[in-house]
Amino acid sequence: MSAELQSVVQSSEGVGTGAITSMPILILNVHENCNCRCSMCDIWKRPAGAELQVDRVRLYQESIRALDVKQVVLTGGEPLLHSQLRDLCNMLKECRVRITLLSTGLLLKSRAEIVAECVDEVIVSLDGPPEVHDSIRRISRAYQVMQDGIRAVRKISPRLPIHARSTIQQANFGCLRRTVGAAKDLGCDSISFLAVDTTSKAFNRELVWPVSRQNEVGITPRDLVTLDAEVELLIAQHGEEFASRYIAEDPEKLRRIANHFRQQLGLLPLRAPMCNAPWVSAVVSIGPKSFSKMSKPAARGARPMCT
Ligand code: SF4
Repeated sequence: MSAELQSVVQSSEGVGTGAITSMPILILNVHENCNCRCSMCDIWKRPAGAELQVDRVRLYQESIRALDVKQVVLTGGEPLLHSQLRDLCNMLKECRVRITLLSTGLLLKSRAEIVAECVDEVIVSLDGPPEVHDSIRRISRAYQVMQDGIRAVRKISPRLPIHARSTIQQANFGCLRRTVGAAKDLGCDSISFLAVDTTSKAFNRELVWPVSRQNEVGITPRDLVTLDAEVELLIAQHGEEFASRYIAEDPEKLRRIANHFRQQLGLLPLRAPMCNAPWVSAVVSIGPKSFSKMSKPAARGARPMCT
């Protein structure tokens, strides 16, 4: 996220009433399928490969302009599976937005030209050092393929920002420092961390997972000591990366990730996170009702659908 946009989001705390007049970030789920088989997600189990049609998005160009959308985030599934990605990006560019691509990285090499030409920023999912990453993704050589893809994109567009984002979960919570090392090895410009979601119905889950499944993927009470120690070692040994913002979070925010797991385990009081959608962002998914609330009127006062 650009510094300008970051400040818009940070200054948005407290918003949340009335009709919206602007919306800085629009997240488009452009493809339903994924080419990874991550242990924490069921999206890859989807049988169909539906994608967001370019002509459908085109209908809402006026709304995108009127709501002064600054950044469009392409996600999925895997957005690089989209068959008309170049057309989609070109159409979005007509709205003068910045395009961020969230990707598994597996198709970066074969689609390097499109990525280099059409996208302003790439964020790749990184689960850890090579063996950990491949094991969580359940794709052999996923790390190596992603590295080849990053190199291919950088060969065409050396300055394109490519960031890593890592989801902390059971299979990687003990190797956060090695994950930072992996991001550097890949040539990423920064890395950010977030906690795995095991308690919602997101990620194509039919039902909320039972506790046994949550414990397989999430952090258990006995893991917390190790997680705390790993976070403190990361903070102590990577001062330079925190100072330069190579690690996007500040130390306190990383500690809060550990406390987030404590809240989920009932060891700390639950605190609901502040939700600033749809005043700051909205998610559009593939489906007949997507975008319905962004239409008519196309401009001020419209309230986009938030999934
Ligand atoms: S977590 Fe992301 S990369 Fe992994 S299977 Fe799900 S959608 Fe794909």
